[in-house]
Amino acid sequence: MTKIINPKSVVETQREVDYSFAVNLMQFLVVPTFVLDAKGNVLIWNKACERLTGIAAEEMIGTKQHWRGFYEAPRPCLADLVVQNRTAEIDALYVAHDDPAGLAFGLHAQNWCLMPGLGHQLFLAIDAGPIYDGQGQLLAVVETLRDMTAQKTAQTELERLATQDGLTSLTNRRGFDTRLDMELSRACRDQQSMALIMIDVDHFKRFNDTYGHQMGDECLKSVASGLLAAVLRPSDLVARYGGEEFAVILPSVDQAGAEAVAERIRQSISALAIVHAGNDELGMVTVSVGVACGVPARVTREKDVINLADKALYQAKRSGRNRVVALRLDAENPIV
Ligand code: GH3
Ligand code: MG
Ligand code: MG
Repeated sequence: MTKIINPKSVVETQREVDYSFAVNLMQFLVVPTFVLDAKGNVLIWNKACERLTGIAAEEMIGTKQHWRGFYEAPRPCLADLVVQNRTAEIDALYVAHDDPAGLAFGLHAQNWCLMPGLGHQLFLAIDAGPIYDGQGQLLAVVETLRDMTAQKTAQTELERLATQDGLTSLTNRRGFDTRLDMELSRACRDQQSMALIMIDVDHFKRFNDTYGHQMGDECLKSVASGLLAAVLRPSDLVARYGGEEFAVILPSVDQAGAEAVAERIRQSISALAIVHAGNDELGMVTVSVGVACGVPARVTREKDVINLADKALYQAKRSGRNRVVALRLDAENPIV
């Protein structure tokens, strides 16, 4: 006898099997993943996401609390931007992202996340992609996360080492060049006055000759901390330009302000009272300081500003050392 089966129920049973297989697959996927439905409620919070965030799926499923896995205060996650069609906000909410090529292709971003369930920050690479039904209706949004903290920390450390002077820990010549280029463009664009200060230790060759190269190194380290103490604004940059020469970039400063900082630098180094028998009658380490200050023109190059500050420094040396000479970076002192 032939058994009669209802073809509809077979299809439905098959669908149920497919659905539970898909959910299972997602649950045990090694990539931390959560899924929001079209209303922004959490549908799936997989095992890897529980491990990444330290928060159990049962606390999340059916809620809109998924932000708690990553942040301390409510804010949209990348998947919310896809659900709510708020792509334009990606720039304000993430430290880095790809240019969104339309929601249909999903969003890709990176962020430092506070991770309240773990108690320490993670740098996450985040992808959020939409899932549509056959009619093009949004069904769900899948957000996957990758912990990039180790790579980000290593990259930041490498960048720091690449721009830091090994002896004094100040910004090195490379970091100085990049920053001067940036500040010059900014000052020219905003038609704002800026300054470059060049500082050179007086009779330093004699210091090495008298006390030895190692004491010379110690002296340069002390001078570096003296400079940092004299330069007060966080936006100012103190760099080791090379050898016993240092440079300070002061963005948005007028001539009087720049000369005041230069004089404070000079005094702060002599206040260190580092004995230097070879430094003429003073008998302690001093510096000569050259200042170039003004509003750069469009044609002004980094080398022009450096040359002007060097010229001022040379005049300070020629006129007796342990002093400040300032030159204007404008029509009175044309440098182009
Ligand atoms: P002036 O007052 O005209 O600047 O004279 P000076 O002797 O300071 O100038 P000069 O440029 O002739 O000498 C600079 C000296 O700085 C020579 C060099 O050996 C020394 N020097 C450069 N870099 C370092 C360093 O990293 N450590 C030590 N100990 N000495 C350095
Ligand atoms: Mg020198
Ligand atoms: Mg010198």
